Amino acid sequence: MTTEHNWAGNLTYRASTIAHPESVDELRGLLAQGGPVRMLGSRHCFNDIADTDGVLIALDRLPRVFEIDPTRTAVRVSGAARYGDIAPLLDAEGLALANLASLPHISIAGAIATGTHGSGDAIGSLASAVRGLTILTPAGETRTLERGDDDFDGAVVSLGALGAVLDVTLDVEPTYEVAQHVFEHPSWDAVLADFDEVTSIGTSVSLFSTWERTDFVDQIWVKQRQPEAREAARESLFERLGAEPATSKRHPILGVDPIACTEQLGVAGPWFERLAHFKLEFTPSAGAEIQTEYLVPRADAVAAIQAVRTLAGQIAPLLLVNEIRTVRSDDLWLSSSNGTDAVGIHFTWKPEEEAVRALLPTIEAALPETARPHWGKVFTLDGAETRSRYPRWDDFAALAARFDPERRLVNPYLERLGL
Ligand SMILES: Cc1cc2nc3c(=O)[nH]c(=O)nc-3n(C[C@H](O)[C@H](O)[C@H](O)COP(=O)(O)OP(=O)(O)OC[C@H]3O[C@@H](n4cnc5c(N)ncnc54)[C@H](O)[C@@H]3O)c2cc1C
Repeated sequence: MTTEHNWAGNLTYRASTIAHPESVDELRGLLAQGGPVRMLGSRHCFNDIADTDGVLIALDRLPRVFEIDPTRTAVRVSGAARYGDIAPLLDAEGLALANLASLPHISIAGAIATGTHGSGDAIGSLASAVRGLTILTPAGETRTLERGDDDFDGAVVSLGALGAVLDVTLDVEPTYEVAQHVFEHPSWDAVLADFDEVTSIGTSVSLFSTWERTDFVDQIWVKQRQPEAREAARESLFERLGAEPATSKRHPILGVDPIACTEQLGVAGPWFERLAHFKLEFTPSAGAEIQTEYLVPRADAVAAIQAVRTLAGQIAPLLLVNEIRTVRSDDLWLSSSNGTDAVGIHFTWKPEEEAVRALLPTIEAALPETARPHWGKVFTLDGAETRSRYPRWDDFAALAARFDPERRLVNPYLERLGL
């Protein structure tokens, strides 16, 4: 057994070894040895989705791919590349992605495999930007899939169950600037009464709460694409909600030095230096933490937030911060926004996993039955119940059986889900 662990340190991988092949041929050789295997990204998941009893393979030493399509509407990049690695390269070429997660430290293949997302009523999850991908199956066969192909919608959010994602082609667009504004202490009742207006007031909106207080939201972060067109509407909305603009830079977790955070205070700058909350060269978030998230259809969002609010007394003692974001609908089979615009209710917990796991069933029971747990974070919802919330689950299971008939990628996490 290795002593290697995930980013958060709450999981020591059970794998016998972590291999770092330096060529695709070496990767093929490792796969040809047989036995259980999983790919490993940048290790930012909080559960055992990446783990295996066999060999973990990290693709971070494969030759790098970075090819801009001649149409300048797409880029092909290594699956193991981090968003933070490719963003400045794209920007230098006058190009941009539509969105980023809260941190640029994560690998592209790991993020899309788990349905990772940022925020934005009009922006889909990071997986929705995938136009194509190349997968090496455990049997060593190369499969290239493009948007529109039969299996494509099942293969992007893959839970790592199909094979090694060698490269990914992402949609890109002309580069743009973003300005970030923070507002404090709007009334929760007023925010929930005008929830749709609040989340649509910027390109990307996040609501942060510690649930120490249930009468106001601690912070609302608004990331706005430039040129600015909604300044007056934004100012008047937040005035109506009883909020004040922050007068200095903030961290999502109250009391934490905001040095790790991207620029705020309305100063416009490159998209990749504003869309993520955290800078690549710093530890994101708290560092010592675990995370949970449930995504609910937009129509259920206010009820779901109210349910969490009702549990504030039990949640707050374990919580560092709660973040609420929006994600546009997509057609990817295992996307948590499959078939519905969604609202993510995210919990950054103190690193007290046993107590958090004891509380999660209460939260899961209080949320609407449409809530889908984030694949990469800690949840306790039963596997059968979880998969029942994905209408295309059986199609995904059939796809996984075709890509991996010997079930070498099926680990305890996937077995719990019934794969
Ligand atoms: C501080 C912090 C902030 C976060 N913020 C957000 C956020 O804003 N939004 C959000 O949605 N999530 C967020 N997350 C969760 C995170 O984005 C996901 O857990 C994501 O999967 C991490 O990618 P990774 O490369 O670290 O994946 P890993 O944990 O290494 O792996 C995840 C899965 O991807 C598979 N995989 C990885 N690489 C490959 C490959 N090349 N081929 C095939 N399969 C592969 C693995 O087998 C595994 O199943 C955050 C996590 C942390 C620690």
